[in-house]
Amino acid sequence: MDKITLIIPCYNEQSAIPFLKKELYKVMEGFEGVEFEVILVDNCSEDDTLSMMKELHREDPRFQYISFSRNFGKDSSMYAGLKASTGDYVTIMDADLQDPPELLHEMYEALKTGEYDCAAAYRADRKGEPWLRSVLAERFYKLINKISDAEMVSGARDFRLMTRQMVDAVVSLEESERFTKGIFSWVGFRTKWIPFENRERVAGKTKLPMRSAFSYALRGIVAFSTAPLVLTSILGMGICVFAFFYTIFVIIRQLVSHEAVPGYPSLMCVLLFGFGITFLVLGIIGQYLAQMYLEVKHRPKYIVRESSLAGDKDDGRQGAVR
Ligand code: UDP
Ligand code: MG
Repeated sequence: MDKITLIIPCYNEQSAIPFLKKELYKVMEGFEGVEFEVILVDNCSEDDTLSMMKELHREDPRFQYISFSRNFGKDSSMYAGLKASTGDYVTIMDADLQDPPELLHEMYEALKTGEYDCAAAYRADRKGEPWLRSVLAERFYKLINKISDAEMVSGARDFRLMTRQMVDAVVSLEESERFTKGIFSWVGFRTKWIPFENRERVAGKTKLPMRSAFSYALRGIVAFSTAPLVLTSILGMGICVFAFFYTIFVIIRQLVSHEAVPGYPSLMCVLLFGFGITFLVLGIIGQYLAQMYLEVKHRPKYIVRESSLAGDKDDGRQGAVR
């Protein structure tokens, strides 16, 4: 009998959990001959999310929970869930039902054919999303696909059903600055893409404001592309070539006309431009250095405060959770 693990990262989702519970039961009952395991990962919520998870676990032992000692971000929650999962197939789903659970049937069928290792959902449209966010997101995907080897689909969600083999591959990437969408793409495997219509969250508010979406995108670029570094080198070289010819030009002009250089404005321009570029380049290098610094420290990706999984005192650093 196949076993499917559902991983659900939750942060302050008390208003969504009752809806989630209903939908999950509906989906699980729709499958025949499949065993389920639900791993709810609490990102140190401030509301009743954890106590609701405990209640679910008491009612139905198929529901397990892991609760972090603080908010380690959604990517760490997904990692913790993937690591703890025991299913032959594993899926990650948002708690707010923006990932339609009924798609699981189609995903499961696709994997059962043996043709695919992963069935992933993407939003065919971005209806209901703030305009600026959609535009920036589209730009981001165009950019990252150009400058990185990992191909990322615009509108793709973390919602996907994966085989055990692919899950093990994802877990084997141990970086702590995780950009999970990139990791999914980087590990490869054959993915079937399933489109669906965008949905609004069922209850509560988004936990990913524009500002953090922006820094998340930046992390993605730094994690999956070194193109900005190459670009800055090319830029630096270009400026050097320009400066070289300009110097020759200034010397020749001085030799020919013998006039004192009046060029205060041009000097200022070159100076400011040069300084501007220098700081820009330093900033870009700094981004990479910062990410390296965080990786080198090799801190755990999450710390578990309590969990229903036996012996789960794991810190996400290495080894199996149980
Ligand atoms: N989430 C989380 N930790 C966080 C932020 C979000 O586990 O720090 C969860 C959240 O509970 C939800 C999912 O990640 O299940 C997606 O978050 P959200 O719906 O707020 O993001 P959006 O769909 O607006 O991008
Ligand atoms: Mg959402």
